[in-house]
Amino acid sequence: MIAICLVLLLGLVAAAMAGVVPDGRRVPVAVVPLQDAPRPEGLPATRHAAALLRFELPPADGEARWVVRLEREAVDAVWLQSGDWRSPVERFFEPGEAGVFPGSFVFDLPASWAGPVELELHSTGDAPRALRPQVMDAADAMDLEHYAVAASATIYASLFTIGLLALALYSAARDRLFLALFGFTVVALLALSAVNGHLYQVPGLRMFAFWRSQGVVALVMLLCAAWLQMLLQYAGMDRERVRWKGLVDGVSLALVGLVALCLLNVPQLARTLAQVQVVPFGLALVLGLALLVDAARRRTLMALPLAALAVLALAGVILLELSARGHQVEGVLVRYGYQLAIVAGVAILAVGLVGRIAEYRRQRDRELLARADTERRMQREAARSELVSELQLRLRTLPPEDLPWSAFRLLLDRLRPLLPAERCVVVAQGLHGQDVLLVDPVGDTDAVRAQLGRRQLALRRQAANGIALQQPVTEVGQPSVVAIEAVVPLPIRAPAWGAVLLQRRGADGFATEELSLAGDFARQALLHLDQAMAAVQLRRSAELDALTGSFNRRTIDHWLTRTFAEAARSGQPVSVLFIDLDHFKSINDRFGHACGDACLREVARALRASLQEGDLFGRYGGEEFIVILPGRGGAAARAVAEQLRMEVESLRPECGGVLLRLTVSVGVATRLEHEEGPEATLARADRALYAAKAAGRNCVQVAPAVFR
Ligand code: GH3
Ligand code: MG
Ligand code: MG
Repeated sequence: MIAICLVLLLGLVAAAMAGVVPDGRRVPVAVVPLQDAPRPEGLPATRHAAALLRFELPPADGEARWVVRLEREAVDAVWLQSGDWRSPVERFFEPGEAGVFPGSFVFDLPASWAGPVELELHSTGDAPRALRPQVMDAADAMDLEHYAVAASATIYASLFTIGLLALALYSAARDRLFLALFGFTVVALLALSAVNGHLYQVPGLRMFAFWRSQGVVALVMLLCAAWLQMLLQYAGMDRERVRWKGLVDGVSLALVGLVALCLLNVPQLARTLAQVQVVPFGLALVLGLALLVDAARRRTLMALPLAALAVLALAGVILLELSARGHQVEGVLVRYGYQLAIVAGVAILAVGLVGRIAEYRRQRDRELLARADTERRMQREAARSELVSELQLRLRTLPPEDLPWSAFRLLLDRLRPLLPAERCVVVAQGLHGQDVLLVDPVGDTDAVRAQLGRRQLALRRQAANGIALQQPVTEVGQPSVVAIEAVVPLPIRAPAWGAVLLQRRGADGFATEELSLAGDFARQALLHLDQAMAAVQLRRSAELDALTGSFNRRTIDHWLTRTFAEAARSGQPVSVLFIDLDHFKSINDRFGHACGDACLREVARALRASLQEGDLFGRYGGEEFIVILPGRGGAAARAVAEQLRMEVESLRPECGGVLLRLTVSVGVATRLEHEEGPEATLARADRALYAAKAAGRNCVQVAPAVFR
């Protein structure tokens, strides 16, 4: 928008100038070059040229004043003379009296002149210039002068403003491109003011006059090089299009070489340089145009309007060159049109750069967001794998009753840092045979339990839904939503149910990915919980006797070995009890096998209940049980055996409406000091049992050290 406004403004100035070329009174002039005009005295030793101007002035009417007007070309000196009359000498490279931004050389003709006039036009300078004298009404010349001043003032003011803007943007954005733009505007300001001759009017810059016309060429070449480099950076080709860069750098280098050549200030070269300068200038414009077309194809911001302006500038330069070579193309617009196009180009460049900075920023923001997203994802991935390995490690060692609680506690510990929420709890019912399970690592569990208890039905419905959902939480007396609660269901098979409950203060709620994260973690926790539970079941079935649920023979053998090794190391006593049901065969025979099984279960339960912690109990085979009593020997073991015998005796299992009476015989043996493994002790216990059977059953026999 800003660019369009600026271009419109400059366009208006151009249109104004184009439309108002005065059509007042002019007098046709015939110009005849004078080949061998005598060289005037007291002027710099530069090339001298002269021409004879012939024209006819209308009769003097007392009002009209006639002037000879010449475009301001880079001549050292220019003047008119006719016989005794001689005009003041005008100089391009020195400050004159014609105002701030003089647009032309204007020579007043004596008011008395009328009729045919012959005037000599003299100029000196190191480069040839086609001076196109116009004889016109003084008022018209003044009008033209005004337009020239307006055009050049617009050009300088615009460049100055853009330069300041570029500096300000550089200090704000710290982007090197703005500094480059600033440098470019400075070069453009110097070059255009040198071409117009205004540079030499400025007190601090008069030293540029040292190089005369070569200084102008040098600045124009510098402007071309700066323009190309600026475009290169603007279109991002210094990074992306290496071939373009090579070409542009080569041309720029050649231009800088020309600049250096000009600065050498060799008078003999001035003429040639001034004549050929239009070639590199046009070349730079055409190359710039090509760059812009390529940039526009790659959708670089503002490349197309810039290209259009480059075309305009090129057209302006061609017109100007035609005029400089003596063709009748006139007007302030011809002189300043290409300059206005350049200024508009710089303005668009500035706006395009601002746009590009915004684009950079957006891209940087996008990159930052993407990086943050990647980091978050990696963090979640790390937390997830940590959760998985913790679940695998910890759930393996825990007793089965602690498994659900521990699994969910691990889940919450890993979830909470990733998912900030005031409340983060797991509630489950019927999971692995447990009633209501509540895991709340931070809150007041009792209060939460009471609160959830009231909502149990609703929660259960939501959890059964299988989809994570959020709902606002309101409080009595509070008009607005105080928090958002998310219910993330646990994938548990009905009728059991469970959910992760998250509550976040305020009305912001949870992002979908947060809920899916909670769901994923919950799935992991449940998966590993189920696996741990299955492993426990498997272990149990391998260790336990299916009928009675006590240790099986294999496990008991394992424990016997361990306990005896421990006793051998520590010197602590250990005793073994063999317990065999008396006449059990007859129970089977009389009441059936099922009844026998029930009796075995009942006896096993009673025996297990009578033992202390640390005592080991198992079914050794058939209707024979074994008890290992670590730390107890002799009398203590006999007392335990007696106690067990009485427990069984007091049982009254029922079979087919009949109350039965069961008895056991017990053989006791305590490890002797020399007995390393359990075999010898077991053999003695077995023999003690045999002795008990022989002694009439329902009694305890302790094995002596040696059986006779
Ligand atoms: P006693 O030991 O007093 O000499 O007589 P008993 O009848 O108990 O002796 P025996 O060793 O001859 O018989 C053991 C019986 O135990 C044989 C079998 O029917 C019964 N039995 C063994 N294992 C099981 C079992 O798993 N279930 C049932 N129902 N009976 C079993
Ligand atoms: Mg028996
Ligand atoms: Mg038996």
